[in-house]
Amino acid sequence: MPANLRAIQADITTLQVDAIVNAANSSLLGGGGVDGAIHRTAGPALLEACRRLGGCPTGEARITEGYRLPARFVIHAVGPVWRGGNHGEPALLASCYRSAISLAGQHGVHTLAFPAISTGAYGYPFEAAARVAIAAVRDAIRVSPAIREVVFCCHSADALAIYEKQLGECDQGDPRARRDKARAGRGSALPPDAN
Ligand code: ADP
Repeated sequence: MPANLRAIQADITTLQVDAIVNAANSSLLGGGGVDGAIHRTAGPALLEACRRLGGCPTGEARITEGYRLPARFVIHAVGPVWRGGNHGEPALLASCYRSAISLAGQHGVHTLAFPAISTGAYGYPFEAAARVAIAAVRDAIRVSPAIREVVFCCHSADALAIYEKQLGECDQGDPRARRDKARAGRGSALPPDAN
């Protein structure tokens, strides 16, 4: 059955999904924003595990355990820094979403949550980033059939409104997405109050 795609407003560190994605930097040695929150909640063992990975190029992803997080895994994806849009940013951003989905599929992940990668300190314009994220995820889940639910976890109400609008637009143009949504309404991996 095709995966359900949805957006919620939450702190990603609280989500009870199989894996959460981290918007990491290429050292994987911690930073601010969502990365800082994930490391604070997971505890120092996460930093140790990241150290052993030896970094990750932009556009790729790496996986670790989730340690003290409710999520079993953390997938560390490195998005591009926005440098005006003509430096391969959309392709690099799409690539890190695809890499994260591919790793998730290889590790038997059924439910996965993404933050809005690159839209904080890395300065990627939010609406453009959301468009890339949704398109890349829709594309990638076709070849990772184990994935049942992908959550776009938004930190603010404004961010959520942008994702909901874009997910709705996609559904209108895509009969398959409309059908998936109708099916997905019958069950979700997240508690109803996660919305
Ligand atoms: P980047 O360096 O890739 O831009 P940031 O962590 O600075 O990463 O920001 C990425 C996005 O994550 C931003 O939209 C930010 O609002 C959001 N964010 C920050 N903290 C959290 C959190 N705890 N849960 C979910 N999203 C978060």
